[in-house]
Amino acid sequence: MTLTTAPTRTPTPAPAPAPSSAPLFFGDLPVGPSLARALAAMGYATPTPIQEQAIPVLRERRDVLGQAQTGTGKTAGFGIPLLEAIDTRARGVQAIVLLPTRELCLQVADELARLGQYTGVRVLAVYGGVGLGRQIDTLARGVHVVAGTPGRVEDLMARGALDLRNVRVAVLDEADRMLDVGFLPAMERILGRTPPTRQTALFSATMPEEIRGLAHRQMRDPVTVAIEPERATVDEIEQRIERVPDGDKLLALRRHLDSPGTRLALVFRRTTHKADKLARDLERGGYRVGVLHGRRSQGQRERVLAQLKAGQLQALVATDIAARGLDIPGLTHVFNYDLPDTPETYVHRIGRTGRAGASGIAITLVAPEDEDDMREIERFLARKRQGMPGTPGTPAEATRPAARQGQRGGRGRAEKAPQQAAQTNGQMSPDRRFSRPRPAEGDARPAGASPATSPPPSSPARNRNNRRRRPSMGGRPDERR
Ligand code: AMP
Repeated sequence: MTLTTAPTRTPTPAPAPAPSSAPLFFGDLPVGPSLARALAAMGYATPTPIQEQAIPVLRERRDVLGQAQTGTGKTAGFGIPLLEAIDTRARGVQAIVLLPTRELCLQVADELARLGQYTGVRVLAVYGGVGLGRQIDTLARGVHVVAGTPGRVEDLMARGALDLRNVRVAVLDEADRMLDVGFLPAMERILGRTPPTRQTALFSATMPEEIRGLAHRQMRDPVTVAIEPERATVDEIEQRIERVPDGDKLLALRRHLDSPGTRLALVFRRTTHKADKLARDLERGGYRVGVLHGRRSQGQRERVLAQLKAGQLQALVATDIAARGLDIPGLTHVFNYDLPDTPETYVHRIGRTGRAGASGIAITLVAPEDEDDMREIERFLARKRQGMPGTPGTPAEATRPAARQGQRGGRGRAEKAPQQAAQTNGQMSPDRRFSRPRPAEGDARPAGASPATSPPPSSPARNRNNRRRRPSMGGRPDERR
């Protein structure tokens, strides 16, 4: 199925029979031909642990309370049984997935649409910050599954465009993050508009009291499914994604540098030119910054490293080549300002912090245009974790990009925070210092914050081992690093 950048899904093609060669098992789990075909097309050969646990329980129509983060494969974990529960001959919305952010709505809708591409199930992502018209029109044409932010879902219900009376399955995904941005009452109101006979699945990386209360009120004898907190690449590294609107990475970085917890930061850029520019911008902002890349002379490099070791710098902006093998004592943060060229480089970069038993935080700033690359990194790390063939790296490095919990306190300069707060919607772990903005327009974006202009592009199924090809950078090859 072709996915557009619009918030809607195009109707799926008519169900197509699976070719006889498609296996009718997903690991040990039997699957129907349409799903088997989609799984094969997506390159999903074996279920992840959360899928192994959640799919059989959900197929029994039991409620599930899942403690798992994004990156574990939980979308297909609830998505496969959800799609199986849909009667494509009926027109009404039969499943609703509530999510905290627009990006997650798109991501989950995309995954469900791909899994359901041969079933005839129609999936729609609904979220605030964009006009209601298209979403209302698409709903009127008939949608089986809605993945939406609570604010927009309520808005559509209030307008009579979204009717949840035929919902069989409700999923609350990233429930703790929805709690953080104040969506708890909306979640409960929405569930109240669905039939009491519905099946409910709730996924949350953490289980604060409020989420347990919600589960108690809204679920019937749920089966708990928990996936062990992941091993970090280096155990002490906390990995976070922070989504930022186009052009706002500098602001996001400055906010972090202003935080008292950020004592020494290594900031990665992909080209020497970009590294120099960022260092200049930061210097102009009053930060003590060094720069390190392949075009710096040996003398310059040594001076910067000496300054670093003497505690004279707050941040070092570097390209990958210059940072290779660097061991910077006291480094508290690694920032992926630009995403790395390859997923392997991601692992390498974040390993710059958390060294020698010290704790460290790796923050990846993800603009809309970085979404595909980020997904590729997540897939790579998920494969590493599962020890899938064809994946380089040792099991000791196995990881996925999901943060361990335990956020740090402290807040950057207040005047810089709000807009970033709205966009802090990482799949890994939102930075809770900037959570709890007022939800507005059905999204976690506060009123006044400009919506990103283009949703992440769709991600076609890819070969497991393929490498991303970046468009030409336009500069001379030696400018790259
Ligand atoms: P999720 O936690 O659902 O966001 O999934 C994390 C990543 O793992 C996504 O990129 C999925 O496409 C990928 N994924 C999910 N299930 C599988 C599977 N069984 N085999 C391989 N990749 C998977």
